[in-house]
Amino acid sequence: MQSARALAQDIRDGKTTAVAAIERSLDRIKQLEPSLSAFNTVIAERALDRARALDAAGASTGPLHGVPIAIKDNMCTTGVPTTASSKILAGFVPPYNATVVERLEQAGAIIVGKTNLDEFAMGSSTENSALGPSKNPWDVTRTPGGSSGGSAVAVASRMVPLALGSDTGGSIRQPAGLCGITGLKPTYGRVSRYGLLAFASSLDQIGPFTITADDAALVFSVIGGFDAHDSTSSAEPMPDLTSALNGDVTGLRIGVPRAFLGDGVDAPILGAYDAALATLSARGATLVDIDLPHAGYGIPVYYLICTAEASSNLARYDGVRYGHRTKLEKEDGLLQMYERTRDEGFGPEVKRRIMLGTYVLSAGYYDAYYLKAQQVRTLLRQDYDRAFERVDLIATPTTPTPAFKLGEKTSDPVQMYLNDIFTVSANLTGLPSISIPCGFAESREPGAGSRLPIGLQLTGRAFDEATLLRAADAYQRDTAFHLEEPRVG
Ligand code: GLN
Repeated sequence: MQSARALAQDIRDGKTTAVAAIERSLDRIKQLEPSLSAFNTVIAERALDRARALDAAGASTGPLHGVPIAIKDNMCTTGVPTTASSKILAGFVPPYNATVVERLEQAGAIIVGKTNLDEFAMGSSTENSALGPSKNPWDVTRTPGGSSGGSAVAVASRMVPLALGSDTGGSIRQPAGLCGITGLKPTYGRVSRYGLLAFASSLDQIGPFTITADDAALVFSVIGGFDAHDSTSSAEPMPDLTSALNGDVTGLRIGVPRAFLGDGVDAPILGAYDAALATLSARGATLVDIDLPHAGYGIPVYYLICTAEASSNLARYDGVRYGHRTKLEKEDGLLQMYERTRDEGFGPEVKRRIMLGTYVLSAGYYDAYYLKAQQVRTLLRQDYDRAFERVDLIATPTTPTPAFKLGEKTSDPVQMYLNDIFTVSANLTGLPSISIPCGFAESREPGAGSRLPIGLQLTGRAFDEATLLRAADAYQRDTAFHLEEPRVG
């Protein structure tokens, strides 16, 4: 598949049209959606209308002129249902666009649909979606990862060249890793969250799924930058990424936290990781051993903080303001209405997190859990600050294992949580981080699951997405893993 940059250029040059690009995307969705379940909603007519309008206007609208894009279904789109894959938002149609949606459309991108996710982005496999799971295109009996699984599937199976996800503890990078595509979580505050349904506000960040690091840079430059609608949005100027992606990694110092990789990482993952480091080093980067002594606490700290924030953020779904309301009986009071609405609307994982979060914030437990977690979060940030005095980037695998089987971890939430061991640190510290394809776990038996993608994760200094993207792009100039396509079936 063509990159988004090249497709937009071809449409601008008159070599193809926006309508043709959208039709190709819709055909592919029609063909593959029954086996992959990537989308909650496809907005074919609306996308075609917009494409016709772009073609008729003739003039270029911007760098994504006519390019189809899929949006995770937890970002508001005017007039298009936005469900967070939750029953509680059934029937909710936002009256406004998220800032990212607004900026993408201004740049000429055309939204073809809203993608599946774990309910309210809580999960690592899309199995917590009220609409059922998405399937990994490399093996449909396996999960694509989560929570932005639908967006990852849509790009990995080439239904669209671009999609947006949100990443609270790894939900862009983990599914990108498990599906063999590129996924970027920008620095906290870099991309406006206005119109993103909040999960954990000190961790949430929006970012792109793409085939190449170059396209990730393109989308990031469109959606990034200050937004007055988001009080946590940063005024830090956006970097010039055109000159940053020059293939040059000479002298770049890449930190290798060997002790943190420890046990529990599959051998093919470590093999691909070491090979990726060798590739970067052959291009001129220097590998430096580093220590992240508190990184091992990432999972408990993350699950204390994210559940605390979720319990507060999800209080707004009460049957009054949005979506689902329980059927009222004559004798029902307000309390029964709240209780039954929330009981019917939220799935088991969301309830578990609301309860856990309420518990860790309660008087008597706050100091022991929430406050302690915040203190360890500071220690973790200090680990990274110290490391970044000596290195420019830190490399780890994205996940400890390749894509796991659907159903394999659903009965044991802690096993599911452990999948995020390498991704949560970037959210707890706010740092930018990217996952890029770096190999395959191959098994000797042919057929489904015989080749499963492996991701390399690079993490950079705050607001230094330029270095992150430069290294990712340089790596992709030397390798072809990111260009491999799954044979769906
Ligand atoms: N898997 C993590 C969780 O379940 C991260 C989710 C996310 O980044 N939205 O919370």
